[in-house]
Amino acid sequence: MNAAIIRIQGIVQGVGFRPTVYRLAGEFDIVGFVRNDTGGVTIHAEGARIDEFIRALRSRAPRASIVREMTVAEISPKGYSDFVIVPSESTEGDVTSISPDLATCPECTRELLNPADRRFGYPFINCTLCGPRYSIVRELPYDRPLTTMSDFPMCEDCNREYMDVHDRRFHAQPNACEVCGPRYELLDGEGKTISCENPIERAARFLLSGKIVAVKGIGGFHLMADALNDDVVDELRRRKRRPSKPFAVMVKNIQTARNLCELSRFEAEILESPSAPILLVKMKNEPKPKLPESLAPGLDRLGVFLPYAPVHHLLFAKMDSHVLIATSGNRRDEPIVCDNAEAVEDLNGIADYFLVHNREIIGRSDDSVGFVSENEMIIVRRSRGIVPRSIEMPNAGPSVLAVGADLKGTFCLTRGAEAFPSPYFGDMIGEKSSAFFDEVLDRYLGWLDVVPRAVACDLHPDYLSTIKAERLAKKLGVPLFRVQHHYAHALSVVAGNRLPNEPVLALILDGFGYGGDGSIWGCEFLIVDYSEFERVGHLREVVQPGGDRAAVDVRRMALSWAFEAFGDRIGRHFPNLVKSLGDLAQPMMKIVSNGGAPMVSSAGRLFDTVACMAGICCENTYESECPQRLMSAFDPRIEGAYGFDFSDGILDPIPAIIEIADDVRGRDGASVIATRFHRGFANGLVGAARSICERRGISRVLLTGGVFQNSILFELVLNGLRNENLSPFWNRFVPPGDAGVALGQAMFAVEKLRGSGD
Ligand code: ZN
Ligand code: ZN
Ligand code: FE
Repeated sequence: MNAAIIRIQGIVQGVGFRPTVYRLAGEFDIVGFVRNDTGGVTIHAEGARIDEFIRALRSRAPRASIVREMTVAEISPKGYSDFVIVPSESTEGDVTSISPDLATCPECTRELLNPADRRFGYPFINCTLCGPRYSIVRELPYDRPLTTMSDFPMCEDCNREYMDVHDRRFHAQPNACEVCGPRYELLDGEGKTISCENPIERAARFLLSGKIVAVKGIGGFHLMADALNDDVVDELRRRKRRPSKPFAVMVKNIQTARNLCELSRFEAEILESPSAPILLVKMKNEPKPKLPESLAPGLDRLGVFLPYAPVHHLLFAKMDSHVLIATSGNRRDEPIVCDNAEAVEDLNGIADYFLVHNREIIGRSDDSVGFVSENEMIIVRRSRGIVPRSIEMPNAGPSVLAVGADLKGTFCLTRGAEAFPSPYFGDMIGEKSSAFFDEVLDRYLGWLDVVPRAVACDLHPDYLSTIKAERLAKKLGVPLFRVQHHYAHALSVVAGNRLPNEPVLALILDGFGYGGDGSIWGCEFLIVDYSEFERVGHLREVVQPGGDRAAVDVRRMALSWAFEAFGDRIGRHFPNLVKSLGDLAQPMMKIVSNGGAPMVSSAGRLFDTVACMAGICCENTYESECPQRLMSAFDPRIEGAYGFDFSDGILDPIPAIIEIADDVRGRDGASVIATRFHRGFANGLVGAARSICERRGISRVLLTGGVFQNSILFELVLNGLRNENLSPFWNRFVPPGDAGVALGQAMFAVEKLRGSGD
């Protein structure tokens, strides 16, 4: 073969693919051209060494690229005289040309720490393969003048690199150096500049001396503190009003991560990948260095991530400590702060110092979070390093906007078959998250260049997102689709796996969703297809005394389940529970016995109940604290599983509650209860799935809902289903929790419009 057209599909735009192709062409004496086009790259190649060239394209593709498909078609040579990069107007201005922000690559890190390099210690070093992308784009096309780098005209040296196709920084839009680029400065708690030679070094010294420093990075601010200093961890908890929610830690390098946690090879790869997410990983029994218990009280997993911006590497280079708390810089329940003045105002009283820079952040985003199961990353929070990537749905259709649910705010906009979930913008409970929503939506509408033909939202009438959707649909004059919460969860799995339009069983386990029949749903067995769902089963319902308060003070739920099991004889079986409720016990008993409160079938509340009965935790000071602590008490060496009944579609945990009472009385440890409960619940779910699937002739089972962020339950159910010869599917590309709901809503609306011939 002497000439070929090579088409490459995947994540190959905005990640330095064309310059790499160009350099390889030079190396193997190839002539022709390379060009971006829809969804990929096309190469016309001619030359004697074309086979070597094609092999190199596979083996030496840029680090942040993902080659999904490469096709080679032989053609007759056209007789080109050289190799060129052809600009392609049609795609250059498209949203698909915006890459997620990419963690500093190993080569740039080496230069950063090399005293002989001209960028030694320069905190904005980047190249074609790494650096900010999504966070700096103002408008399309992705080109320096339309990014926040337009404020920094390149110096001669930088410009030479930028223009030289053989340079690592050829067309690296954020290219900069000490002479021409942005810079850091250090501010005191009041926002006044502290004049110093090296602000990063000074900030590192403050961190080591036990101060809390707000550090501006890629998608916003982190609050940083020395994670090994008990006092400062407590102080940060006090100032952030965050009594026990775990803090993620940034560690100096992968070796430090290995010293603290049990890391699989795959986990290490993800930590070191260009998206550099926070991974929830199992802590070692004897981590080195020893970590304060207060970092993640009662939990056996720790959120860990690696430095992904040059400033992080520089801070670690100036410190003996290898472990820093790096938590989102925000006030409780507000979006992450990204502007300097906003930081000084909002984080006043939390941060002692501010390490800021003068490059504006447009695409505000938190760190992404996930965990590994089945050698795959299950996403818990989808944000920096992943957005604005799209997800391919089963069918193309008119553009729609789905607003998601109020918790874990995320919207989803579609174009053709592609769905574009927004970054996470926190719980929709305040004006700030609402404003963040509007700001990102405006930008996405512009980038995608679409006008939604429908809006989709939750069924919950009081959600702020629902109200927003009503307003938007009215303004646009388009239909509004209200999609039941758990059905939307199920469709998020259908969409991400591109499942065909056939009935499947979905097990949806979460804390709370509006059922539409006046009750609260949260552990649902639905048979779904593209257009409708049927509720074929659910967890037994109980009274939720005190409504929302029962989600925080979980003794109320424990009392409710205990009453279901034992009636008035609760005191004999759970004396500690009754004692701890004190004066509250009598009125609560009245409510549960009269049914004077909403009924719920919530999986989350059942985990709360068991955590409380086991004496592990009786209050959710943050969302899912009780379930997370219960999971941490799971011990695979303990035998046994509690019983669950399943009949007429109702999964009944009463047998389990009775056994728990026995184990409590027998003074069996919390681990025994936690372990037997996880196994029993998983068995119960698998048994329910088997019986429904058998009856309905279904083999595909979807697992979704925030409760499946419990990796132990997830894996138990997964393996159980496989043992029954059922095919499990789960969320890919979006979280199983409420941040995934928008994708499901979007798919529903697209299919609705397709079906109605709209
Ligand atoms: Zn680089
Ligand atoms: Zn420069
Ligand atoms: Fe949910």
